Amino acid sequence: MKILFVAAECAPFAKVGGLADVVPALARALKELGVEAAIFIPRYRGVEDKTELERCGGARVPIAGEERACVILRGALPKGEVPVYFLDYPPYFDRPGIYGEGGEEYPDSLERFALLSRVALELPDAVGFSPDVLHVHDWHAALVPVYARTVGGTDAAALLTIHNLAYQGTYPRERAGGLGLPAAARDALTHRGRLNLLYGGIVFSDLVNTVSPTYAREIQEDGEGLEDVLRERARRGELVGILNGVDYEVWDPETDPHIWAHYSPDDPAGKVVNKERLQRELGLAPEADVPLVGMISRLVDQKGLDLVMAAFERMMSLGIQFVLLGTGDPAYEEFFRGAARRYPGRAAALIAFSEEWAHRIEAAADIFLMPSKFEPCGLNQMYSLRYGTVPVVRATGGLRDTVREYDPGTDTGNGFVFEDYSPEAMLGALRRAVDLYREDREAWRRLMVRGMREDHSWGASAREYLRLYRRLTGTGG
Ligand code: ADP
Repeated sequence: MKILFVAAECAPFAKVGGLADVVPALARALKELGVEAAIFIPRYRGVEDKTELERCGGARVPIAGEERACVILRGALPKGEVPVYFLDYPPYFDRPGIYGEGGEEYPDSLERFALLSRVALELPDAVGFSPDVLHVHDWHAALVPVYARTVGGTDAAALLTIHNLAYQGTYPRERAGGLGLPAAARDALTHRGRLNLLYGGIVFSDLVNTVSPTYAREIQEDGEGLEDVLRERARRGELVGILNGVDYEVWDPETDPHIWAHYSPDDPAGKVVNKERLQRELGLAPEADVPLVGMISRLVDQKGLDLVMAAFERMMSLGIQFVLLGTGDPAYEEFFRGAARRYPGRAAALIAFSEEWAHRIEAAADIFLMPSKFEPCGLNQMYSLRYGTVPVVRATGGLRDTVREYDPGTDTGNGFVFEDYSPEAMLGALRRAVDLYREDREAWRRLMVRGMREDHSWGASAREYLRLYRRLTGTGG
């Protein structure tokens, strides 16, 4: 079984959010199951620092009225186990950003990712990799099945994974003219008067999945305008929810190279060392018994930051310390910078994108706050469980599927969960966490350790993907 992943992100080469973690981790987990997976992403600036690149082919395809002569380079994931093909087309991808710069999207992303999608179909000829399944991720690769069924000349099956329905790739209809598609296909890509790439991907793929069972249900009710087509595919059994997993090679406090002290469920003492060091490094008061609440997030509306802003003073009056790592909307960035100034020694804001600090905060914090308005899967709550950092989350999407409310009566659950999207409901859950931390440290320790021992690795989810591939290729399952 040969699978080609086509995506805009893949860690460690290009990362903006969770998509970048999922692509390589799933490819590796599939490899363990005997599946031959390869990844196809653009060669962004700086990729050459992360892997050795070898020229292995080329392709010419028409995009935006011109023949585009592209080179295909071959590299590999860090341990060499999965090949990564890079689309080298400097006019589109040799830029400082992935999707844009300074808060501005690149205006030609439609053509950039159309090129990626179109060239994906040339890989069998160009480099000799002929997939049985084209597994395409999000709107950036959603044209792959459209090209495959129109101009592509392939009989590979197509699976579209929706990592976040909030990003659909919509453009004025007229822009469809540059995609090198027949007129009928251009019409089929039109949704509510606009060119909509994700919509096209949903219609043209053989199967569609999203990244948690709850989100797969939620988007049939509120699908950001696409609920009708999603409901239709679900009715035919063609919309599936598969939870993401965690790559414990990257996210494990026993081996994490970024943190100050290693620890494990059997010996969690090192967690205290990480907290002390982080407090010192970020100028927080060195108080071991004050609960430290962490957040790591893209600073966008989806993440529930308006709740945090509305409740911030009341959160701090619970007697916590707070640390945030994030970048995004300048209004949020400014708020958190200001909050750190207003609460010297008690609140810190790292307005940056830093893999290293993401790991350190997971290791140091006592509580991880994730009050998302919606969350397709969410990875940080699962990282938090492994790091003994008790998650406080809103019950939506994958957060609902992975975090269960602590029950003092039965000593079960792995975190704290709230339903209503309101500052009060969030504060209530945070208060329950802080109270337990203060009043019953033994119960807190059991809660932490229970979370650390849970298994959210990719194995089970990769087997579900394999079942989908088998269904697509008629090889059982
Ligand atoms: P989303 O994909 O919506 O951003 P996820 O929880 O699925 O949300 O994944 C987010 C990923 O991005 C996690 O690996 C998280 O650690 C990482 N991340 C987000 N913001 C930052 C940041 N400022 N610095 C480092 N990593 C970040």
